[in-house]
This record gives sequence, structure tokens and C-alpha cells, in this order.
Amino acid sequence: MNFSYPQVVMQEIPGEISLALSISGCPVRCPGCHSPFTWNPSYGEPLDERVLTGFLDRYQGMISCVLFYGGEWEKDTLMAHLRVIRERGLLTALYTGRDQVEDELAIMLDYVKLGPWIAERGGLDSEDTNQRLIDLRTGQCLNHHFLETKPASERMRLAS
Ligand code: SF4
Repeated sequence: MNFSYPQVVMQEIPGEISLALSISGCPVRCPGCHSPFTWNPSYGEPLDERVLTGFLDRYQGMISCVLFYGGEWEKDTLMAHLRVIRERGLLTALYTGRDQVEDELAIMLDYVKLGPWIAERGGLDSEDTNQRLIDLRTGQCLNHHFLETKPASERMRLAS
């Protein structure tokens, strides 16, 4: 499993400060993908347990969640990483372009964003989006958090 662009993000998972890791090798291939260069599984650097725990040590006390942008196509490795993250008391999240995740994987996740990128429907900040961010602990859809971040004028335009 290779990764790139590690960064701490505040908005992708509402209420959490997340370390986000972009996993290489996405097979979904959405037209208009923001980063098609990451489709190559060899892009970036290997994410083994040593590298992962290095990140967790570095950001200990600063983050509450680890977010994977993809990686479900290497399920066993992803699940091993999720286990390590949970052992540190952190929450786990996955953004996937697929419409569902296997039960075995879902039980290792606190949050999941489902659905491919469809340009004309937009992302989580669009009322027309096909994508859904779900809190798997409660089953609640969290999309409304992203609409709320838009200015009132923009929300009214979307609602009209
Ligand atoms: S799921 Fe994400 S990374 Fe994969 S092709 Fe679609 S937009 Fe790109």
C-alpha cells in the first residue's frame, strides 16, 4: 500500500481533527478525478506499520481521527492499519468512491464517505450530490454539516 500527501485536516470529518492519507491505486476512475496520478499503485511511498506508527507518534495529542482517502482495494492491509489506529484510541474514517463497503471493513470504521465523484452532482457541499458521509456508530448522514459551511446566499441558491 502506497500513500501520498499526509496532512492534518479539520473539515473533512465534522468535529474531528484528522490525519488524512491519500492511498494510491484507486480503481474507481471517476471522470474528472482531482488526482488521477494517484491511480498508479506505485505512486508515493509505502505505508507500512512502521511509517503509520511514526505518524501516530508525531501527531499524538493533536489528532482525533485518521482518514484514508481510498485503500479499500487493499482490504487486509487497510484493516491492519485501522486496528493499529484504534489501539491508539483514535477514530477511523474512509472516503471511498464505491457505494458501499464490506461489513468486515465497516466495523473497523467510525466514518465512511460513499460514492464516486460525479461532476454535475458535486461533492458533499452540494444538495444534489450522490455522495454521503455517514457516522457508522449512529448511522447518521452528516452531509448537512457541509451545506451549513456555505454562505446563506449560496444555500438559498442551492435550495431554489
Ligand atoms: S474515487 Fe476519488 S480518487 Fe478514485 S477516481 Fe474517484 S475521485 Fe479519483
